[in-house]
Amino acid sequence: MQPKFPYQPWTITEEGFSAKDLRENESAFALANGFIGMRGNLEEGAASGAETIQGSFLNGVFDSEPIVYGETAYGYAKNHETICNVMDAKSLVLFADGERLDMGRSEVHEHRRVLDMQAGTLRRSLIWRTASGAELEIEMSRLVSLTRQSLAATRLSLRCLSGSCALRLVSAVAPAVIAEGDPNDPRNAAGKDRSLLPGRLAAEGALLAMEQKTKNSGYTICCAVEHRGLAGDAAAAEGRAVWEASLTLKAGDAVTLEKSICYGAVRGEAGSLWEDTLALCREAPGFDALCGEQRACLEEFWERTGLDIVGDDALLQGLRFNLFHLFQSAGRDGRRNIAAKGLTGEGYEGHTFWDTEGYILPVFIHTEPALARKLLEYRHAILPNARARARVMGHEKGALYAWRTIDGEECSAYFPAGTAQYHINGDIAHAVCEYYDATLDLDFLARFGAEILVETARLYCDLGFFSAEKGGRFVINCVTGPDEYNVMVNNNVYTNLVAAENLRRAGEAMALLAEQAPEDYARLCAALDYSPAEAADWLRAAESIYLPPARDGIVPQDEGFLDRKPWPLDSIPADKHPLLMHYHGLVIYRHMVCKQADLILAMTQYGERWTREEKEKNFRFYDSVTTHDSSLSMAVFSILANEIGDVDTGYDYFMSSARLDLDDMHHNTKDGLHMANMAGTWTGLVRGFGGMRCRDGKLCFAPVCPPQWEGYRFRVGWRGRTVEVSVSASGAEYRLLRGEPLTIEASGREIELK
Ligand code: BGC
Repeated sequence: MQPKFPYQPWTITEEGFSAKDLRENESAFALANGFIGMRGNLEEGAASGAETIQGSFLNGVFDSEPIVYGETAYGYAKNHETICNVMDAKSLVLFADGERLDMGRSEVHEHRRVLDMQAGTLRRSLIWRTASGAELEIEMSRLVSLTRQSLAATRLSLRCLSGSCALRLVSAVAPAVIAEGDPNDPRNAAGKDRSLLPGRLAAEGALLAMEQKTKNSGYTICCAVEHRGLAGDAAAAEGRAVWEASLTLKAGDAVTLEKSICYGAVRGEAGSLWEDTLALCREAPGFDALCGEQRACLEEFWERTGLDIVGDDALLQGLRFNLFHLFQSAGRDGRRNIAAKGLTGEGYEGHTFWDTEGYILPVFIHTEPALARKLLEYRHAILPNARARARVMGHEKGALYAWRTIDGEECSAYFPAGTAQYHINGDIAHAVCEYYDATLDLDFLARFGAEILVETARLYCDLGFFSAEKGGRFVINCVTGPDEYNVMVNNNVYTNLVAAENLRRAGEAMALLAEQAPEDYARLCAALDYSPAEAADWLRAAESIYLPPARDGIVPQDEGFLDRKPWPLDSIPADKHPLLMHYHGLVIYRHMVCKQADLILAMTQYGERWTREEKEKNFRFYDSVTTHDSSLSMAVFSILANEIGDVDTGYDYFMSSARLDLDDMHHNTKDGLHMANMAGTWTGLVRGFGGMRCRDGKLCFAPVCPPQWEGYRFRVGWRGRTVEVSVSASGAEYRLLRGEPLTIEASGREIELK
């Protein structure tokens, strides 16, 4: 079968035009810069006969509305937060002798769209034979600037190849046309009124500008567009600002039009937002200059990842595509995070989950540590919300992070698979430690990290208790682990292990600060009312954490897991997946079935607790009861398969996750790309095949090369160094590209890199 996108290492190319794939291609072709996100919509918007999902987003900019429960109870989340689909500015509609360019009706040849991951642009080209007999060669390019957070730009180059025509170009800034999602799919924002309130509107010469306001969350959003290269007329009417140019073309004539697009948003008093946005737009560099900056920025990014696979272009393309979108979607200012779908669609309403810490941060910690730090600073910024939530949830001390949120408030209306996922605290704490271990960034620990660790540890200390029933062990009851098909369980192994790590590392972090940053330590002790006696309690809890005992070698994912009713996967009809769309939760929860890796994740993250044989036995068992209905699952299975030496299975799982969005394997790429899975594939390569682990402060590798590849390569940052690992069937080579000499462990042997 011909792949939808030809296997090219640096580009994603759509040849021709496929109406049925339009919506998922709009996700694949999305451009973003951590603040602005634009779906890969056609410039002219709709195409007759094709469904489209139009979208422009600003990371972290949301509206809220009260959640209406049929039957409410104490402590339920109060408000929905939904990312705003803000005014569209990428639109450019072409008319030739009155005929509108329409991919569904017009005679278009050689249509091609190229997402260029080195240039950071989306280029579209086509030849339009107009009904009136002219032949127009058209190229439209777009970028969202990775170096200037408020800016995006587009360029149209058009040439009349033959004939002549009267051309009209219409560019607009207009409220988004919001597509209704499937009301039966809990993963999207269907059924909510997502419109924004109109504000100021301006159309003066080459400039258009529009303001919108959210209904409840207090945001003012502003967008300005300046047109360059052609003279035109601007007008504002009916809630839209429109710029038009009309010209007559004959064979050989060529025109170029550039649009500089500037977005801004503030919460609360709008101040000079309007003036600032307009000024920034007017001063914006031209398209070529932005392209130059963009390429340089991406060159550095690709340099740091150093990713290569020899002998599998499809895979290399998939991996680069995944990294590219992750890099585009992550917030960069410590106030914005990364949504489950990045800035590529409205699935999961733009919410941030544990996906960030559990999956995405490991990638950035080792490739873009400054960005990783910013994402963790976001967690520090929302600590006040997490403290408030902890009080609502009956905890006198500590902080409980929201399961899903944009600005820190808990937005999960379904607590069994939402708020009950207390592991989010431990995931965040684990990421803080992972970041510190890889960077030794003491400044971060002193200003942000330690406070997060202390407050999350306090929460676990309050949540669990030393159970006489369990021989005085520290137990944690009634929580949901990552696996959402087993809810409100006792002693979920993964949760207990992240909690134990959190409890231990919080005290260690404070002790480290006492020694290395005494002033910060004193400040934190006072601000948090902390004393080392508290850490002694945490350590006692961590050291006596309870894990349900294995039965016949099978470690129960939680205390009751092995007592649930078996539900052989081969007895479930193929059209009943994902289970969450076809069975009531209660049916699922009473069965021995998993949505996603949970115990397997525990075994990859805390591998030293189990022998290889124990891991193998559990891998086989959990493999037989897991549906992988969550896209977060397969990459983790791939990692453990490799660890137990089953490279074939590791490879199969890895391949299913690496091109999940490019090949729309979950049939919902239209709602946005699956960021956690995208990150999971990097981890699958580096930790799975590369066998990278951090043990006692040392970087360790145990690489294998699947027979399907000639070799692969990646680079990781570690304490100021960059280490390159190249693996082939004949062995592995380690190179220190940057930084002080370093001792690493390579397949069990210590080697010094200089
Ligand atoms: C998964 C969660 C994940 C969420 C957002 C759900 O399907 O079960 O683990 O956090 O998607 O990606």
